[in-house]
Amino acid sequence: MIFVAGINDRKKIIKEVSYKCKCNESKGIIILEERNFSLFFLPIFSWDKRYYLECKTCGSLYSIKKEYVDSILKEEEVFAYQLNVIFELKMCKKCGHELNFDYEYCPYCGNKIKE
Ligand SMILES: [Zn+2]
Ligand SMILES: [Zn+2]
Repeated sequence: MIFVAGINDRKKIIKEVSYKCKCNESKGIIILEERNFSLFFLPIFSWDKRYYLECKTCGSLYSIKKEYVDSILKEEEVFAYQLNVIFELKMCKKCGHELNFDYEYCPYCGNKIKE
């Protein structure tokens, strides 16, 4: 008898939210990542649900803190204190240039980056 068992990750977009991102846009999507255990290609159970927020404009990625998952699923707006940063695109707020290094001043327009 051959068992076909596996673990697979599924990602789905739950909804769109508004989040004031560093890139000055506020269109974000909530992504649910679910890890499933399947046997004979039938999902038996799922565990380890994780929620993420992704900025539609710059692709910055955040994970949602567990204690805020419920409220984020109900609300239309997400706030920075509800998130952990996974990847954040640094951008100059004045000229919009991408900044790959930790500059204190924007090399393109001289705007002060660090507050
Ligand atoms: Zn963004
Ligand atoms: Zn700049």
